[in-house]
Amino acid sequence: MSSLRFKVVDEAFNRKADPVQIPAERPEKYYGKYVFNRQKMFEYLPAETFEALTAAIDNKEPLPRNVADSVAEGMKRWAIDNGARHYTHWFQPLTETTAEKHDAFVDHDGKGGVVENFNGKLLVQQEPDASSFPNGGIRNTFEARGYSAWDISSPAFIMGNTLCIPTIFISYTGDSLDYKTPLLRALNAVDRAATAVARLFDPEVKHVKSYLGWEQEYFLVDEALYSARPDLMLTGRTLMGHESAKNQQLDDHYFGAIPSRVEAFMLDLEIECHKLGIPAKTRHNEVAPNQFELAPIFEETNLANDHNLLLMSLIAEVARRHHFRVLLHEKPFAGINGSGKHNNWSLGTDRGVLLFAPGKTPQQNLQFITFVVNVMAAVHRHNALLKASIMSATNAHRLGANEAPPAIISIFTGSQLADILSRIATSSNDELTDLNSKEGLRLNVSQIPEIMLDNTDRNRTSPFAFTGNRFEFRAVGSTANCASAMIALNAAVAEQLIEFKSNIDRRTAGGENLRHALLEEIRSLIHASEAIHFDGNGYSDEWKTEAARRGLDCETSVPVIFDAYLRQSSIDMFRTTGVMTQVELAARNEVKWEMYTKKVQIEARVLGDLALNHILPVAIRYQSILLDNVNKINAVFPADTAASMSASELATIEDISRHTGAIKAEVERMVDARREANRIESEREKALAYHDNVVPSMDVIRYHIDKLELMVDNEMWPLPKYRELLFIR
Ligand code: ADP
Ligand code: MG
Repeated sequence: MSSLRFKVVDEAFNRKADPVQIPAERPEKYYGKYVFNRQKMFEYLPAETFEALTAAIDNKEPLPRNVADSVAEGMKRWAIDNGARHYTHWFQPLTETTAEKHDAFVDHDGKGGVVENFNGKLLVQQEPDASSFPNGGIRNTFEARGYSAWDISSPAFIMGNTLCIPTIFISYTGDSLDYKTPLLRALNAVDRAATAVARLFDPEVKHVKSYLGWEQEYFLVDEALYSARPDLMLTGRTLMGHESAKNQQLDDHYFGAIPSRVEAFMLDLEIECHKLGIPAKTRHNEVAPNQFELAPIFEETNLANDHNLLLMSLIAEVARRHHFRVLLHEKPFAGINGSGKHNNWSLGTDRGVLLFAPGKTPQQNLQFITFVVNVMAAVHRHNALLKASIMSATNAHRLGANEAPPAIISIFTGSQLADILSRIATSSNDELTDLNSKEGLRLNVSQIPEIMLDNTDRNRTSPFAFTGNRFEFRAVGSTANCASAMIALNAAVAEQLIEFKSNIDRRTAGGENLRHALLEEIRSLIHASEAIHFDGNGYSDEWKTEAARRGLDCETSVPVIFDAYLRQSSIDMFRTTGVMTQVELAARNEVKWEMYTKKVQIEARVLGDLALNHILPVAIRYQSILLDNVNKINAVFPADTAASMSASELATIEDISRHTGAIKAEVERMVDARREANRIESEREKALAYHDNVVPSMDVIRYHIDKLELMVDNEMWPLPKYRELLFIR
């Protein structure tokens, strides 16, 4: 058995970098080649169709039905010119991946042949047979009708040989069955609410956009090693494996050169990204061995999110070309860093002002403070919900572990912003006259941007950090659909801004001047949301105690964390912002609990199988070799000599028995716990049973297997070890 392990290790370590087809042209020539962007629209659509479509996109209106056929015709011609044979409505079910059902363009021509056909109806709306997507009971199976409808704010693209049309996915009752629908609603809500507040400072503002810049972390593993690890193949993470003697202690990976095989892969990936209009920009090694990151230039949130989902498909495909497998799981390896997907988020007006960036004038800085303080208040009020929005069975392994954001949401501001806030909080309005002075907030405001960018990013332990002109939501997991976090955040901020605006209006209607009203409201928000502000070490145990004292949500059980979606404050917030109804929230939670259960269930099964069929037989075989040896010693040597000679072997034999016995017993316990949990009807209670009664057994089983790994003859050990998986040659 071990010969397989040595064979795959050999294969992996001897593999050479694969050549990359580097296009002869510069990126500006092929960037967006496979995207039906405005330039292609202009080229392929009649002038009046182009006008109607781009006007609808700009004004956030639906596509006029009378031009749908014409758009479809142009899109089809473009797609066929670029090698597409199929089309699909590409949507985002609640499973954290994307779904697509491909149809060929071909149709009967009535003469025994075919024509390639595509029309407005097929473009705009589809009825995918998608009754098997999780929907939390909103759409029961006899009413299995869901509709997908083109989201014209995200351009169609060609992936492989398929024209992909980004769509929303809703039930026949209009309930959302996906991530995109509530995301678009949340972006609308924050646009309206933030525009109203921004107009207090600049009456010309018409729209506020939400921006997202994600940083995707991932691991690479050679395909040969991957295929010898059933746990990686089936669950995306290693369920066992003793720590490698060398892992990330030396920090040599982070600063090291990118291995040539990986560099070839990254180059290939970047080229593919650019062809698909994903503005990939930054690539580097991450902290853990074999861990890397890719970050694009930030874009409007809806498009950025589509691009992240597309990237997650693309990266898997390109990795295969280079004989790698990409691991997007939040914690593929115990004991070293996990992977996140920092969500850099900001709001900006259509007048080009980033609302979380300090400005040059006192007026701009009052606006900056207004928006920052409202974000802090929203995050404070909904800290439990925001945690729920990023929580999953897989991210749970990463959060609260020693290198990742803790499972408590707090905001890091950095000392400069903290100083400004505390000064506003403790001064009277008259004392803040320098807000009106040339220098602004006593601090030399014109220099704030540079200083802040330099100083704010130091605290890596914070789940939500102010980073100079944006906030960085770092708790988001590497497999997540960013929409989940972006829905909760944008909606919560929208709710807060609506409330803020109405308070300001009430004050000014009562005769207060605007500056006074703003400062009063800002001050009261700073006081009210004090508890969310924490610049200290988020990994420390003192913080856990302190956070609980401050009333922040400290729950660590994933199924319980999801309850936050059904708190009255969340239901009200999603209702007033028009983002989700209580029915939708309840349905989504059913899906979340079900997904949690299924993930743990699969892991538990795989672990049980590996423990019983891979590990125990090998441990027992090794033990019997030792027993054989002891027997032979006894046969050859006098009793007292034999006893001292075989003492250490006898101890090992006993140790092995202890561990194999414990594994056997714990697997049985785990199977019983699963059987019992499976009988529970309620999805929530079932998930809880898995969390409370199944997960702990998995930890125990792993502990004993990892001990055996250190005892059993290396030649016999069946699974590639961490030291082999984690170092690309
Ligand atoms: P880091 O030091 O965190 O790696 P980077 O400068 O690499 O920071 O930026 C990380 C991500 O943040 C990139 O995707 C970048 O485009 C994005 N970003 C920068 N400014 C903003 C902003 N104002 N709003 C949203 N995202 C932004
Ligand atoms: Mg960052």
